[in-house]
Amino acid sequence: MMSVRVRFAPSPTGFVHIGSLRTALYNYLLAKKHGGEYLLRIEDTDQSRLVEGAIENLLSSMEWVGINHDEGITMVDGELIEKGDYGPYVQSQRLDTYKAYIKNLLDSGDAYHCFCSKERLDEVREKQKSLGLTAKYDGHCRSLTEEEVEKRVKAGDTYVIRLKLPENKDIVFDDAVRGKVVVNTEEVDDQVLIKSDGYPTYHFAVVVDDHLMKITHVIRGEEWLPSTPKHVYLYEVLGWQAPQFVHLPNILNIEKKKLSKRHGDVAVEDFMKKGYLPEALVNYVALIGWSPEENKEIFSMKELQEKFSLNRVSKSGGVFDVNKLNWMNNHY
Ligand code: GLU
Ligand code: ZN
Repeated sequence: MMSVRVRFAPSPTGFVHIGSLRTALYNYLLAKKHGGEYLLRIEDTDQSRLVEGAIENLLSSMEWVGINHDEGITMVDGELIEKGDYGPYVQSQRLDTYKAYIKNLLDSGDAYHCFCSKERLDEVREKQKSLGLTAKYDGHCRSLTEEEVEKRVKAGDTYVIRLKLPENKDIVFDDAVRGKVVVNTEEVDDQVLIKSDGYPTYHFAVVVDDHLMKITHVIRGEEWLPSTPKHVYLYEVLGWQAPQFVHLPNILNIEKKKLSKRHGDVAVEDFMKKGYLPEALVNYVALIGWSPEENKEIFSMKELQEKFSLNRVSKSGGVFDVNKLNWMNNHY
């Protein structure tokens, strides 16, 4: 039997979007189908984007739709508690872990301190753009000596830590939806791994955590596909095996545009407040981008768990049509 450990890793920045619900659901269904584990991890390393009450809102939305996690942060008697052996499951509580691994990367020369000011970075970017080049960091601080770095750190200069990508190297990985993906490092930026506030970026934290939490499949929205080569390279230099990546095509509105709040309800809580059946919402969302083998429309959560499979995930964007949801809500 295929071993499966998956995670839903939202940033607590507000409500749960229909697209996030689908990501959570596919992760959950894959875990349940294979008798695996489904984790909930809170990605809150961007301290400027935190929204008060977002974790609580997330938990109540997930509970309402019936997507229950095996590990992660949960609410018991109005208090947030950790459940599982691989925690903490909130990234802001894992800073020591990220520090330990960034030290390894600095020691091996796969990461470096960058002291460039915002003004300098903007200038570099503008210049590259005007020349029609891909805007990326120019490697200015790559060759600072250890002594220089030490001196500037001691002097209290602001810095970030960047990944040192090799020049002109193909990074190759397999995506369960896209197939083989090849990206040359010339197209990829020396990603910031640790920010000037000492917090890791999403890119660094996600790799460390997915590895330490023994994640086998990373199912997420395709907006993360361009970041995946950096992640794959990080796995390589850290000596870890990368998980199977599964990037889900976007959910669009009926005009085939980005599904956003401006065009109507897109948050799970909106449907909860309006009295929709959670089972109908789950059923409808499952079918945006995944098709079952049989010609049937109404499925219980149990049936979805039995029937879900990655090879029937669609390669093109699914459409969210509230009229179809309403139909399902009336026929469920
Ligand atoms: N924190 C990311 C988000 O909010 C998760 C991306 C991922 O699953 O790797 O979308
Ligand atoms: Zn620099």
